[in-house]
Amino acid sequence: MDHAALKKISRDRKYHPISLALKKFLSQSKISSTSVGTEYVNLVEATDRILAKRILCPRDIPPFQRSTVDGFAILSGDTESATKDHHVILDVMGKISAGKKSPIRVSSGKAVAIATGAKTPKGADSVIMIEDVIIEDKEKKILIRHRTDKGSNISPRGNDLRKGQILLKEGTWLTSADIGLIASVGISRVNVYKKIKVAVLSTGSELAEPGSNLGNASIFDSNRFMLASMIRKHGGEPIDLGICRDERSLIRARIMNALKFDVILISGGSSVGEKDYVPSLINELGKPGIIVSGVAMKPGSPTSLGIANGKPVIVLPGYPVSAFVALYTFGLPLFYKILNTNGPPVARQVAKLASDVKLHNGMTTFIRVRILRRHGWFLAEPVSATGASLLSTLAYSDGIVIAKYNSRGAQKDDRLHKGQDVEVILLRDVYTARGGGAQ
Ligand code: AMP
Ligand code: MG
Repeated sequence: MDHAALKKISRDRKYHPISLALKKFLSQSKISSTSVGTEYVNLVEATDRILAKRILCPRDIPPFQRSTVDGFAILSGDTESATKDHHVILDVMGKISAGKKSPIRVSSGKAVAIATGAKTPKGADSVIMIEDVIIEDKEKKILIRHRTDKGSNISPRGNDLRKGQILLKEGTWLTSADIGLIASVGISRVNVYKKIKVAVLSTGSELAEPGSNLGNASIFDSNRFMLASMIRKHGGEPIDLGICRDERSLIRARIMNALKFDVILISGGSSVGEKDYVPSLINELGKPGIIVSGVAMKPGSPTSLGIANGKPVIVLPGYPVSAFVALYTFGLPLFYKILNTNGPPVARQVAKLASDVKLHNGMTTFIRVRILRRHGWFLAEPVSATGASLLSTLAYSDGIVIAKYNSRGAQKDDRLHKGQDVEVILLRDVYTARGGGAQ
């Protein structure tokens, strides 16, 4: 095909809006949590895993009524007449430390010294803080100068969690606090979904393996490593299928090999170029084949989505920033759907745009930004709206702003304006954001 003919094809391409492309792709993908399966893991390995079964709380937490302070367990009624001028004096019967049971019973006129977290003794209905009493007579007596309300400084049994309540729902992406919560009720192993096996193949005769010698007209394969890292962070286990030259029969053999995994990612050769074999090879594997060819997004418009032999396939553009955005847009929602989860917690930050950004007509634009802190404000400084081949524009940005522009819509503005508030999806912790990761 000559250049003009190729250009015509790409101009005539019907780009799917992201939402429609995603809907088609997810509804036709038949891989589910059942095909992936579940396993038990110890809590130490449970971070960022996804609960396959809800957890019911097996007991009340705290399991007993306990003191929340260091002080004295008393009967609140004894303190009713206490004022600055009229001290109430109580006899101290003994001491209860954390983890110890005590047979002592508190009755009127008596008190028991108690440590934070210790089980409150029978009879006592409140605890007065050590700072609020005067200790006398070698700790045998305390002087109280003000009233103590019933229930003060006592955490009742089941105050935190109740036996039988849902502790965590199925599909919960386990965070550090969740793992603490599970341990706090005495559970040591959890049922989680197995990781989705995601095959990753790079195609392109120009690609060289990092660590090898770079030929004259070559570039290092960065996509495979970037994609594998994203897969790992979002519920998958990357299966490395290496690099394949732009040769139809070789790529075909690699795709056949990839079909045994749950999801297949192929970067490069996604478009309508002379050597772009991947979409037609997917179609040869039977119906439905490629279901979306081209998406209304920048970068990432040459993305194709398909189903080969029942397995979802994402054909990612070779340009690294495009590949990142395509996996972000279609791969992550697919993983989350398979694993019945909303995904990991996502950090976002509202910031004021530092300069105008021109949007692509009819496309969703992914704008890479740096976050700067100015006088208590967060500023989002666009790094580059184009330049999908330049991985540094992604790596040195702090986050992404996703902007839609539809010229037929009510809002016909073709740009985002300097000073307007935008929501930034953070790629790194904003408190360490110093405008790029190169410094
Ligand atoms: P393609 O989508 O195959 O037309 O590739 C588009 C551009 O992305 C070309 O400049 C490729 O060299 C580059 N590219 C393709 N695959 C990779 C990869 N795995 N890592 C880095 N760059 C790539
Ligand atoms: Mg290529």
